[in-house]
Amino acid sequence: MARLAQTHGLTDVQQEILATVRDFVDKEIIPVATGLEHKDEYPTQIVEGLKELGLFGLMIPEEYGGLGESLLTYALCVEEIARGWMSVSGIINTHFIVAYMLKQHGTQEQKDTFLPRMALGEVRGAFSMSEPGLGSDVSAITSKGVKDGDEYVLNGQKMWLTNGGTSTLVAVLCRSDEGHPEGTAPHKSMTTFLVEKEPGFGEVRPGLTIPGKIDKMGYKGVDTTELIMDGLRIPANRVLGGTTGRGFYQMMDGVEVGRVNVAARGCGVAQRAFELGVSYAQQRHTFGKQIAQHQAIQFKLAEMATKVEAAHAMMVNAARKKDSGERNDLEAGMAKYLASEYCKEVVEDAFRIHGGYGFSKEYEIERLYREAPMLLIGEGTAEIQKMIIGRRLLEEYRFQG
Ligand SMILES: Cc1cc2nc3c(=O)[nH]c(=O)nc-3n(C[C@H](O)[C@H](O)[C@H](O)COP(=O)(O)OP(=O)(O)OC[C@H]3O[C@@H](n4cnc5c(N)ncnc54)[C@H](O)[C@@H]3O)c2cc1C
Repeated sequence: MARLAQTHGLTDVQQEILATVRDFVDKEIIPVATGLEHKDEYPTQIVEGLKELGLFGLMIPEEYGGLGESLLTYALCVEEIARGWMSVSGIINTHFIVAYMLKQHGTQEQKDTFLPRMALGEVRGAFSMSEPGLGSDVSAITSKGVKDGDEYVLNGQKMWLTNGGTSTLVAVLCRSDEGHPEGTAPHKSMTTFLVEKEPGFGEVRPGLTIPGKIDKMGYKGVDTTELIMDGLRIPANRVLGGTTGRGFYQMMDGVEVGRVNVAARGCGVAQRAFELGVSYAQQRHTFGKQIAQHQAIQFKLAEMATKVEAAHAMMVNAARKKDSGERNDLEAGMAKYLASEYCKEVVEDAFRIHGGYGFSKEYEIERLYREAPMLLIGEGTAEIQKMIIGRRLLEEYRFQG
């Protein structure tokens, strides 16, 4: 797509990285994505390619072997990858969030231990807040870490871990009452534990079980799992940042950059849906002309392209704000909300343009139709984004009567 979703003011290096990623997506991802997705098969070869491109270390500082790139570069790469197959962007997203949390909040020893191997994709990250009984309401977490000598003993059940099986380092948010007396605000009594484990399913470490893949309607290929901790012993030096009680803030910081990421995924999926819709509309004929020549279809294409442009602009704005060191929760919340809603609408319009063929598994749009809804939920639902946006607006526009 030559014209839509252009980003002005990129450096030569950024343009080069993006051109390389786009080429990889066109040649290595798009041709195989739908086949792998239908079989729910993990894209091992694609992941090896991403490692070679250095994408697992894109935002990890150069001193730890990464490329030291900005959130904007990262988000634009995610947009390209999601245009090829959203599941692949999911594979790097949780890795990126854990690397970001380590970079921002880890002790020197934790950074030295994990970041160089994460940059190479040897250590792969997942993050775990959600539980069977909660997702939006993080303050209600029940999993617990209790101090026992030089270790913590973790118990509880976690839910919806993207990359739960393939990861080897999971950032797990638990309640930890040590040093925080009864009655402490929930968000001040949570700790992020860095849990190392073997990849795979079953008991992957004494006290830690990854039962198996959750069967999902879309977003296949990438493994999403539960995680069960039953007397899991974690050394005290694997508390993120070395101090308990900071977990909630660390996770929210990670999720905030994750939101820009989900927005970027929405942009990528919407772009692909537009490409498929505009192409099909020029191939299919009804009533003696291309359906693209019917005004109703042209209007659809116009609306789709406008949404692709608007979502891209908001996503880029949110990423640039974070890169400039400013608070970006308002912009990230707006970008995530708008991009995921628009993505769902653009995908639905492309589906409608395909007529009955959109319902056939032979057409790529069928896959996109099952993938788009995940973006409405992950990294905070639309309702949660609107709560964040609303609160921030009331802070910014406080009534001065
Ligand atoms: C494929 C997939 C992958 C995921 N990966 C991860 C992961 O890697 N790590 C992780 O920790 N989590 C992950 N999640 C979990 C995800 O973050 C949660 O599903 C999400 O936050 C919503 O939580 P919930 O499902 O418990 O819904 P609930 O919180 O139970 O919400 C149900 C409904 O109520 C609404 N609602 C809730 N509270 C309010 C309120 N105060 N006001 C108005 N409406 C409200 C919600 O918007 C929603 O519509 C994943 C989920 C999916 C589906």
